[in-house]
This record gives sequence, C-alpha cells and structure tokens, in this order.
Amino acid sequence: MTPDRDAILTALESVVDPELRRPVTELDMVRDVVVGEGGRVDVTIALTVAGCPLRSSFEDQVQRFVGSVEGVTSVGLHFDVMSPDEKAALTSRLRGGRPEKTIALEPGTRVLAIASGKGGVGKSTLAANLAAALAARGERVGVLDADVYGHSIPHMLGVQQRPVVVDTMIVPPVRGDMKLMSIGFFLDDNSPVMWRGPMLHRALEQFLSDVYWGELDTLVVDMPPGTGDVAISLGQLLPRAEVVIVTTPQPAAQQVAVRAAAMAEKVGMRIVGVVENMSYLVGTGQEIFGAGGGERLAEEIGAPLLGRIPLDPALREAADAGTPVLEAAPGAEATVALEALAERVQGTRPGMIRKPLTLLS
Ligand code: ADP
Repeated sequence: MTPDRDAILTALESVVDPELRRPVTELDMVRDVVVGEGGRVDVTIALTVAGCPLRSSFEDQVQRFVGSVEGVTSVGLHFDVMSPDEKAALTSRLRGGRPEKTIALEPGTRVLAIASGKGGVGKSTLAANLAAALAARGERVGVLDADVYGHSIPHMLGVQQRPVVVDTMIVPPVRGDMKLMSIGFFLDDNSPVMWRGPMLHRALEQFLSDVYWGELDTLVVDMPPGTGDVAISLGQLLPRAEVVIVTTPQPAAQQVAVRAAAMAEKVGMRIVGVVENMSYLVGTGQEIFGAGGGERLAEEIGAPLLGRIPLDPALREAADAGTPVLEAAPGAEATVALEALAERVQGTRPGMIRKPLTLLS
C-alpha cells in the first residue's frame, strides 16, 4: 500500500526543533514531502542555518516518527536552508507579536540572580548546578551567564556549540532541558574583557530581548561578583528579579556578601536567601573555612539560610568535566545538598503557599 500523505504530515507534527522546542510543522520548516514507489518517503526540512549542529536530532526523529507510519518502508531526509524572508517570518512568529527590543521573558518566568560579594566562593558552580537540579525537578530552565569577568558556565555545563543567529533573534544552545546564553560565546578566547557600564547594560539588554528564551519556569542568572554595574542594570531591566546570595563560612566573605545583599535591595530585587558554600569537607565534616558565616549573613540581612553545600571533590571534578554533579556523581554529598537546595528554592517561588493556611471560623 502507498503511505497516506496526511498521515506523514501528522507524524511530522511530532518532530521538534531541538533548540526552538516547537514542531517543525508549526515553524514552517517542512519544505517538501515526496511519497514514492514501494513506500519510500523523502522529506526535506529547511534549517535556520546551513551548518546546524543538531542535524542528527532531526534525522533520528524523522526516521522514528515518519518511519512508523503505515506503509512506509524507507525514509530519506534532506536539508535546505531558510531564505532571509523565511527567517524574518519565523522570528516574528516566535516573537508572537512582541515588539523588538523588549524583554523576551514570559510574565510567569522567575528570574533568580545568583550573587556574591567576592569571587571564588563557588557562585558560578552553584548557579550551574542549581539550574541543573531545578531542571531535574521538571522545570524549564534558562541560564544566563552574566559574569562578564568569569563566564565559566558554558565550560561547567559542557556546552561548546555557539548560539545561532536567525534574522534578529539569537537562539541559545540547549543542554537537555536547559537553555544557555553567555557573554563568553561572543568573545575571543582569553582576550581581556574591559567593559564599561553602558556596554554591559546594552549586552544584558540584548540577552534579555533578542534571545529566544521561549517558555521558561526559571531563568538563573550568574552575576559578576561584587556590587557593580551588572546588578544595577539587571535591577533596572528586570525589576522582579530575585537574588540568592552565596558566601563561604569565613567572616571576611560574609562581610562583603552583606554589601551585595544591600545592593540588591537598593535596586529593588527580592532576596530569596543565602547559600553557604564550602561549609565542611565531605567525609570528615571538617570545617576548613570556619563556621557560621552563612547563618550570620542570613540573620544580618533577614533572609533564610537555604542550604549548606559541602566542599566536595566530586563537585569540582564534575564542573571541570563539564557535567552537572547530579549527573556525574548521583548520591555524592554535594549532589544531595544541591538537590535539597533546589527543592528549598522552588518552595520560595512567589505565589507558592509555604505554610498551611490557618482556617478562620
Ligand atoms: P566563583 O563563581 O564564586 O568565582 P567558582 O564557581 O568559579 O567561583 O568556583 C571556584 C572553584 O571552586 C571552581 O574550581 C569550583 O569547581 C570549585 N568549587 C566551588 N564550590 C565547590 C565545592 N562546594 N566543592 C568543591 N569545589 C568547589
């Protein structure tokens, strides 16, 4: 029997662009479907860019979905590239009527800025791993690496591919259920970054307006350490952003973290709480960097202590290898602490009922 053309088109509705996360049929990417002799079907898909690194995902999906239509004996997949007009039509559809140069986040997306008073306390490590832990709990997560001086998140999450630019829209690379955008994608390796305030503000603005974030539950933002221009810009661009402050147990770290918290409040961000990192050494429980910094900071700024993450070689090794620790070392002490942290952070989402309501009679 000859396969039914409509059944093939229906099967193609299940083929999803891995970065845009929408069916190829909805994105007008199906250029041609030819049903030939003996059940042979040839499909042509128009990609946004010629060298699309995710071709194999399309190949797998088309084989799977079209190949299982009744009467199909073999499937051929061919690629073409969208014309500039098609790309412009695609981006305006993805923008869904939203004017250009306006913030591309849905109203329901929670923005969680991960901040610290100084560098080296593990802020980027926690941002990357908290994002992965939230994704593992079923959230659709975006990660914006705004640490212009460090931009280590792509390395920690093992994302090498660069964003794809389609017309006026930047499509972020994906890692599983996470989308990632980093200022590092646009810089030459190892060239020094000397950003002035207005340049930083424009770069952040572009990351929030021109990047196709799609539907996200949470956007985790890795902030540069300290109390600089990026925090001010983010406060202006995203007045409903919330902040998690990372510190180590040392008094010196805790004191500078107080300033970061004060700064966040000044620009109108809500402080969700404090995370103490490198609290104790796994196995021994030894408090290498002292004790109590997280608790004291939480007390001082009037926010909860959301978690204490141990110093765990598994976490450092996973970050160096470009894998979230919950994938690289399930069950490791740092993994367990990060999973508990993600659960705690989820519970602080505005609109969540944290305590059972008391019934008034
Ligand atoms: P920051 O963003 O605050 O400058 P990083 O996240 O880059 O700090 O962390 C600095 C280094 O410490 C990295 O090599 C990271 O892998 C390591 N690190 C951070 N937190 C931990 C931890 N809890 N256990 C082990 N190593 C950690």
